[in-house]
Parts: sequence; C-alpha cells; structure tokens
Amino acid sequence: MAVRRIIRMGHPTLRQVAAPVDAAALGDPGFKRLVEDMVDTLRDYGGVGLAAPQINESVRLAVIEIPGGPTRYGELPSMPLTAFVNPEVQVLDDAPNGVWEGCLSVPGLRGYVERPGHIRVSALNLAGQRVSLELNGFLATVFQHEFDHLDGKLYIDRMADTAKLMFDEEYLRYEAEPPADPP
Ligand code: ZN
Repeated sequence: MAVRRIIRMGHPTLRQVAAPVDAAALGDPGFKRLVEDMVDTLRDYGGVGLAAPQINESVRLAVIEIPGGPTRYGELPSMPLTAFVNPEVQVLDDAPNGVWEGCLSVPGLRGYVERPGHIRVSALNLAGQRVSLELNGFLATVFQHEFDHLDGKLYIDRMADTAKLMFDEEYLRYEAEPPADPP
C-alpha cells in the first residue's frame, strides 16, 4: 500500500486514451496493488474520485468514494468505496446538470460544467462481475468526470464559459452558497 503522486495538467499521460484492463488480470498481485494504491492516494489527497491515469497508470480503472453529508461545497450524496473497471456510460437523459467541479490533477481551481444529469454506468467490479448503476445529478457528474480521465479529457474541456473557471478561494468567496449555520 502506498500513496502515489498525482500527476497534474500538462503531463502527457492525462491526455492519452487509457488501455482496457484484461479481465483475466483482475486477480494479479500487481493489479490488486494498483487498486490499493489508488484508494490510499484518493484518501490521502481527500478527493471523491480518482482515475488510474492520474497516478500515471494509463488503464481503464477508477475508484470513487463519497462520504456524503454537508461539506464546504454543499450537501453531497454518499457513495461507498467502489472500483470500476472498463466503465461505460450511457446517457439516459441529456438534460444538463451544472456542477462546480474540481480535480486533483488541476489543483486549486474550480470550474462550472454542465453534463447530462441522468446516466447508466456499466463496469466490471474487482471480482470480474458486470455491475450496472443508474445515477442522477451530482453523482452522475462525478462518474462522468472520472471516466473522462480514461479518455484523456479534463473537466476544463467540458466548460462552456471559461469565465466560470476560478481559484478555490475566489469560488468560495463569490460563488459558493453561504454555509449553513452549524447546529
Ligand atoms: Zn479529475
């Protein structure tokens, strides 16, 4: 287990289309170690999702873990720690949902992105079984953001208006909802 360095925008690996994972390799010690490293790295950096290319491993694997509850970026729905192998996204309703996104590979910035608000995700789990999830709103955004990394895309590529790209501090000062009073 190890915390790995997250590569940042400008590193060429973030712009590559990642290779599919061979389902027969899911039990290999090297692959299990990669998943463990991704979980350690995600938790150490304090993100909600991490795609393998972000630690310079160009394979189609992402981990997502959302504790849920109130945060400085609003009330978040929860998602237990889950790994997704070779995921595919099907848009069920392309009515857009706007979210201020951030990315561990683009540290310190937030950008407003509209993405389809209702999707189905199909992927292999770590046991090699096909799993399917239907997701709405914020969760649909998180999954699309992470899986975009597997195609060499960053959220800034999805922005319609670069005036809505800003530093975290300015985002919190000028755009974020004021936090609710503590109980
Ligand atoms: Zn990202």
